[in-house]
Amino acid sequence: MIKVEDLHKSFGNQEVLKGITTTIKQGEVVAIIGPSGSGKSTFLRCLNLLEEPTKGRIWIGDEEITDKKTNIMKVRQHVGMVFQHFHLFPHMTVLENVTYAPVKVKGVAKAEAEVKGIELLKKVGLEQKANEYPSRLSGGQKQRVAIARALAMSPDVMLFDEPTSALDPEMVKEVLEVMKALAHTGMTMAIVTHEMGFAREVADRVLFLDGGQLIEDAPPQQFFSSPKSKRAQEFLEKML
Ligand code: ADP
Ligand code: MG
Repeated sequence: MIKVEDLHKSFGNQEVLKGITTTIKQGEVVAIIGPSGSGKSTFLRCLNLLEEPTKGRIWIGDEEITDKKTNIMKVRQHVGMVFQHFHLFPHMTVLENVTYAPVKVKGVAKAEAEVKGIELLKKVGLEQKANEYPSRLSGGQKQRVAIARALAMSPDVMLFDEPTSALDPEMVKEVLEVMKALAHTGMTMAIVTHEMGFAREVADRVLFLDGGQLIEDAPPQQFFSSPKSKRAQEFLEKML
């Protein structure tokens, strides 16, 4: 589903990604972990071209998104993204947040988008909030709306950048539960997270990044019980 080949990204003369090569298969759930500043967000943002790679190639499905001829807006329609800070439209209701892109970008009829929107809000347990404004929701509820909004575009892949890091502890679980249910539907997911328990339970693979390099790529059981690199060992000692 996703293929990344020798991905480099520099900001000015700082090289933040130093040649990352990996693949993510259809239906796979990949947890991306690593110290702050290791390049996790930059890596994720390259996957939907929110950042333009300095070098290297990326394919999503059959399409090489790093090909200059590729339509970026089209790529993003297939790749849902959920951020740490939700980024909901504050002046729109929950349902309007969810239906906006399908109607405006894809040209879906409003009534149809609303039916699907309500269905998605049910899936994240928020259909009763359809007509509320985001300011009236808790952080956990906002993040669940953000997930529903991303799903409304019927993406092939979902990217999550620390979706629970901005939440109060009591709201982390409700968001992780929604993500876990989504993983069980067979969605292809790449998740930057510090939730080690979640990564261990839900991910098929863990990618450990440090200093812009992919240091380890292993199934969670293996990564958490016997990390190969010293850097991963040290990271886990601090986390657990
Ligand atoms: P992580 O998500 O692992 O904490 P990031 O990918 O956000 O790491 O950042 C990696 C490095 O790239 C950091 O040193 C950060 O300061 C730098 N960086 C990220 N985005 C930008 C940007 N838009 N401009 C300049 N430097 C950036
Ligand atoms: Mg980050």
